[in-house]
Amino acid sequence: MNTTPLRLEKIYDLAYSVLSKYGCDPFNAECVATTVTHAERDGSVSHGLFRIPGYVASLKSKKVNGASKPINTHLTNNAIRVEGDYGFAPVAIKVGLPELIKTTRNYGIGVLTIKNTHHFAALWHETEALAEKNLIGLACTAYKPVVAPAGAKKPLYGTNPISFAWPRKNSTPVVFDMATSTMALGEVQVAARDGHKVPFGTGLNSKGEKTDDPVAISNGGVLLPFGDYKGSSIAMMIELLAAGLVGDLFSFEAANEDNNDGGPSRGGEFIMAISPELIAGKNWNDHSEKFFEQLSNLDGTRLPGQRRHNNRKDNGPRKINSELLKTINQLT
Ligand code: NDP
Repeated sequence: MNTTPLRLEKIYDLAYSVLSKYGCDPFNAECVATTVTHAERDGSVSHGLFRIPGYVASLKSKKVNGASKPINTHLTNNAIRVEGDYGFAPVAIKVGLPELIKTTRNYGIGVLTIKNTHHFAALWHETEALAEKNLIGLACTAYKPVVAPAGAKKPLYGTNPISFAWPRKNSTPVVFDMATSTMALGEVQVAARDGHKVPFGTGLNSKGEKTDDPVAISNGGVLLPFGDYKGSSIAMMIELLAAGLVGDLFSFEAANEDNNDGGPSRGGEFIMAISPELIAGKNWNDHSEKFFEQLSNLDGTRLPGQRRHNNRKDNGPRKINSELLKTINQLT
């Protein structure tokens, strides 16, 4: 794979200018370009510039409102709904998160339900932002069906990611963020683009047979849930929280209404925040540090989020796939 070095400021400028050109207003462009840049900064390559052609496609088709003005409404004292105004999810998150933080600090637990947005990003952005404010963060979202429930050969679930973040005293938060499929679809697409195999059993081909070929999985095949029926149940829970509870589209409904322009389908997101200070009491941080010490002392372990946070320390240019860069430059 040929790569081209690009500094983070240039990545941001490129994303911002392309998004603006295809209809994002300054606030919407800033929110999405920041998310894209943070993904490249942390090495979340499948959710950085790789997503720009999809973002542009859905601005061009007018599926997504690039001038969205999300609005917060309190459903109860500690449950807030963000009406996303059919914009990209990072915009609704930017509007909703400060209210969730304020509410959770008052009540100990807060819920943010995001409606009518288009999510194409990693979820650690939102959970980590909560943990940086000393709150526990949990977030999940559904997508169009590409994952077969355990035992099935046809898709019903999205790759349905879930992220959890825990704040730490003198360190970056512990954050996991994972698709509930064996692999995120973006990762399978990157493997297909770069000509790599994926682990055998990542998905099924169009005949319903297990395969290690990312092209066969992307074209007419399906992904499988991680951990068979166990991951399948977590994927189901995410459908119920992000669609059933939020009051937005289940994956199968999102597929029925999507125009398949290559950009993100419409859907909801469920975010929950918890204040350890209010729920566990003053000692919560020292107590959990003892647990992390035990975990980190075991040979072979690392904490989730550590890879990204190590990548973040690098102030140098990021290696961007040259073909992708060419495609994006043609959009400017
Ligand atoms: P990975 O399998 O790469 O990683 C999942 C998590 O496991 C990460 O938090 C990672 O931390 C952690 N991890 C990896 N290896 C280890 C290890 N050896 N020990 C401890 N922790 C480890 O992610 P996925 O491919 O499942 O998902 C990629 C992204 O795709 C996610 O950010 C997800 O939000 C996004 N996504 C978004 C969708 C959407 O609709 N918006 C749909 C599906 C996925 P670290 O980051 O530090 O490596």
